[in-house]
Amino acid sequence: MPDTHPPQPHLDALIIGAGFAGMYQLIQLRDRLGLTTRLLEAASGVGGTWFWNRYPGARCDSESHSYCYGFSKELLEEWEWSERYPEQPEILRYLNHVADRFDLRRSISFNTAVTACAYNAADNRWHISTAGGQSFTCTWLITAVGCLSSANLPAIPGLDSFKGEWYHTGQWPHEGVDFTGKTVAQIGTGSTGIQAAPVIAAQAAHLTIFQRTANYSVPAHNAPLTRDFKDWVKHNHPEIRAVMKSTPNGHPFRIAERKVADVSPEEREALYEEAWAKGGLQFRATFQDLLVNKAANATAADFLKRKIRGIVKNPETAAVLSDIDHPYAAKRPPIDTHYFDTFNRDNVALVDLRKAPIERITETGIKTADTEYQADIIVFATGFDAMTGPLFRLNLTGRDGMRLQDAWSAGPETWLGLAVPGFPNLFTITGPGSPSVLCNMPVCIEQHVDWITACIDHARANQIATIETTPEAAIAWSDTVDAAAHATLLPEAGHSWYLGANVPGKPRRFMPYAGGMAQYRDICDTVVARGYEGFVMAPDPAHAS
Ligand code: NAP
Repeated sequence: MPDTHPPQPHLDALIIGAGFAGMYQLIQLRDRLGLTTRLLEAASGVGGTWFWNRYPGARCDSESHSYCYGFSKELLEEWEWSERYPEQPEILRYLNHVADRFDLRRSISFNTAVTACAYNAADNRWHISTAGGQSFTCTWLITAVGCLSSANLPAIPGLDSFKGEWYHTGQWPHEGVDFTGKTVAQIGTGSTGIQAAPVIAAQAAHLTIFQRTANYSVPAHNAPLTRDFKDWVKHNHPEIRAVMKSTPNGHPFRIAERKVADVSPEEREALYEEAWAKGGLQFRATFQDLLVNKAANATAADFLKRKIRGIVKNPETAAVLSDIDHPYAAKRPPIDTHYFDTFNRDNVALVDLRKAPIERITETGIKTADTEYQADIIVFATGFDAMTGPLFRLNLTGRDGMRLQDAWSAGPETWLGLAVPGFPNLFTITGPGSPSVLCNMPVCIEQHVDWITACIDHARANQIATIETTPEAAIAWSDTVDAAAHATLLPEAGHSWYLGANVPGKPRRFMPYAGGMAQYRDICDTVVARGYEGFVMAPDPAHAS
């Protein structure tokens, strides 16, 4: 077939993905550095995660006043959030507002899925192909594809034979799903499943929740924001952002300095009650040592398990829900709106997959080892092929045709989560090895985008044609990432997606950097101060003396 697409002029920079990360990177490269820049996006609109994750109850677990860009004072001051935790439609409205306000759409190609990205040493360019048959070349390639954008649909036999409807929460239909009068099966009780279940249960005739691993959850206590709070936010952005910048996880609250052993059991209980009443991810901040000391963590775990047993009326159901096998917050801790109360409804049942695993999907439902459950609709709240999955989908090949999948066959190897040896002039926003998913995402994104922008600016100012990290730097960073994880209790949840354990065959390596955002920022700044330590910079031959 003849190529009907006119050749595209060579670009200085090409960005993949129009979520929080890609949009800010576009502003920085196009408007601040003045580079010819194009952003390719598979979806028909901006939003990334918030474009795709439209499942019932989808809401951000970061508080709204911190889940937004901080780079523009005007943007911060003009946007007003309506609730403590922003709902998916409101975040999508915000990101559309940003796209309009900064005139981004003219530089974005929507409905343009990237199918391959190949580095060619002969012309020192990246060659990009799309599903629609377009091709682009660029000097700088920046992936902004998110960490949780590649849906994990478990290979349960029989799905093809299922006569009902089924959906993955990360690919939810835009027109929504009507559960009225339906019998629904939901597989998965992670952050997504815990948000979705109460909303589905309120509409469906019956909901069966299939739980493999029991999970902690703390109430979100979501509510409309008061005028006073909105005004406080409006007048205190610098202070709020200073806190976010200084804390390990980029949230607008500080972690308490006290340790569990510093207080009496009665005081401890009162502090947990107070944190429970306040709600949200802040529960983790009650004591400084919750994520590093097993005995300390056990006190929080015990408190939360007692809460479950206090809420859920059926003792057998309560026992299955509170039979949690990992330390609190070793997996990403969900927050919820009436999740455990949902099990007190007459139309909700819990299935313990530890007792009887799913064997297959039938024409009419789900068959476990001991029972067959009927379902009109199956909801897969089964998570993502996190961090590496979205990058692998791009079919990246670096020097000498090296595929990223092969380079990372034993797990991801990056320098700072930003760059990969053998893949020159490629930057991976919130890539594996960066704090990313352990933090409030917009904070990590802005730090990465600012760092990448400064690096490209430096290269251009110094007639540098290629920037490439070294295998030694990447190996050393993997050790650092590993050590940071093992200084915490995070690896104790052996089934967590942080380790890649949720995807069969995926190498087990703790992927995000657990040393905290503030420390990570310092490391990145030091790398620059030392003349881009860990990178080799080759001059543009046209300017070589
Ligand atoms: P997840 O945490 O990976 O949870 C997936 C759930 O599906 C788990 O309960 C898992 O059980 C279960 N599952 C997977 N495969 C299964 C199978 N074959 N059979 C039975 N059960 C199976 O995924 P998620 O809930 O979508 O959350 C992923 C991440 O997205 C979160 O950790 C969070 O970082 C982010 N997120 C954020 C928000 C927010 O801020 N609003 C909301 C949702 C998600 P096992 O635990 O046994 O593997």
